[in-house]
Amino acid sequence: MDKEIVDVLVIGAGPSGCVSSAYLKKNNINVKVVEKTKFPRLVVGESLIPRVMDHFDEAGLFPALDKMGFEKKLGARFMRGNEVCIFDFSNKFGEGWDWTWQVPRADFDNTLAQEVINKGVDLEFETEVIGIEFNGNDSITTVKNKDGKTKEIHAKFVIDSSGYGRVLPRLLDLEKPSKLSPHSAIFAHVEDINREEGEEGTLISFDIIETEVWLWVIPFSNGNTSVGIVGPTEYIDRLSKNGDAAEALRKAISLSDYYVKRFGDVEFLFEPKHLKDYSCSVKKLYGDGFALTGNASEFLDPVFSSGMAFATEGGMTAAKLAIRQLNGEKVDWQTEFADYILYGVNVFTTYVKEWYTGNLQELFFHQPENPDVKRKICAVLAGYVWNKKNTFVRIHDTAVVNLANFIKTEKEKA
Ligand code: FAD
Repeated sequence: MDKEIVDVLVIGAGPSGCVSSAYLKKNNINVKVVEKTKFPRLVVGESLIPRVMDHFDEAGLFPALDKMGFEKKLGARFMRGNEVCIFDFSNKFGEGWDWTWQVPRADFDNTLAQEVINKGVDLEFETEVIGIEFNGNDSITTVKNKDGKTKEIHAKFVIDSSGYGRVLPRLLDLEKPSKLSPHSAIFAHVEDINREEGEEGTLISFDIIETEVWLWVIPFSNGNTSVGIVGPTEYIDRLSKNGDAAEALRKAISLSDYYVKRFGDVEFLFEPKHLKDYSCSVKKLYGDGFALTGNASEFLDPVFSSGMAFATEGGMTAAKLAIRQLNGEKVDWQTEFADYILYGVNVFTTYVKEWYTGNLQELFFHQPENPDVKRKICAVLAGYVWNKKNTFVRIHDTAVVNLANFIKTEKEKA
């Protein structure tokens, strides 16, 4: 069997793998990426949050993305009937980027991958990991290309960024069910022929249909828009009689008083995708010679668009630590990787859970708004979930629920 030797092998060329590999290459590490599919490929996850910009910038990927003219996302609108709550990232607590993009992922990820190749990374498409053996920190990964030919890749470190491919969680028995209750989604892209002129047409919006059910509307600069419905799995299953995803999504759109006119009669550009029970977790985030990043590790929920931010945060953090380890330093992966990533995951877990209990919706739609609370929650929604100066980060587990209970009590008294 053919054999290759590298310092770091990255599995998967999604945003996580691209950030990792670009940063490793920038630091003169001999890195190789293997990607199962041929790009461009369709993937969900189109609304970014500002924290990702730090990673694209640091990895040297920002200029190539910026040239593409993706739709700028300056904040997000949440709607519940006639109530509206708009977050503006320039009005957030603390430091950080004020904007990001809303993107068709096929084009966005393809731009990322091509830029990684331009930077000299050896990225092999249509090459799938089918097995791996660890011997201390060293590893031998078996990959198979589209012609069925296999080869071995010897690496001193492996970063698994394989998304829902979940290569190492499957091969090393690291799968763990998510703590979140089962939710599912159906989405498609539409040619947005009824799009309004100006900000209304391009504003990213989340329309609440019921406390646990919401519709996403993510307009792209190419004139198309992503429309998706999210809810408890049994609710999404009930939307169509025989599992017809297109029928289910049409029904969901008809439930939105605000968007039914814009999307009620438009055609789907592809057969809507049904993503069932999308949350996932792992028993551990690292081991001797490997780290798990992005959706190959934990995925929570789409409601606050945190998936890509964790994918790039994990990719960047793993790359930095792998460099130190390759340079002979002893790295404390528990503290510097697992505990660090899980701190952010735990903050977002609170916000996701409190969204679906309805508590966070109480805060979002409460009038009059409290500007201090809003700025702090806005920083969380921008992905700055490691800034412990922010009380809505530091005491996330009590801050949201206590404030929501206070609002509810005041409402009852009134
Ligand atoms: P991916 O982007 O999935 O890339 C993984 C790559 O690994 C793929 O290209 C795959 O082909 C490759 N691969 C798989 N198996 C193998 C193998 N055996 N060998 C080699 N390569 C392999 N996130 C957001 O930030 N914003 C959103 O609005 C958002 N909406 C979402 C909506 C839903 C319904 C769901 C389920 C998720 C959403 N997400 C969102 C999450 C987002 O999709 C992911 O967090 C993000 O794509 C993760 O990036 P990644 O690089 O980890 O994985």
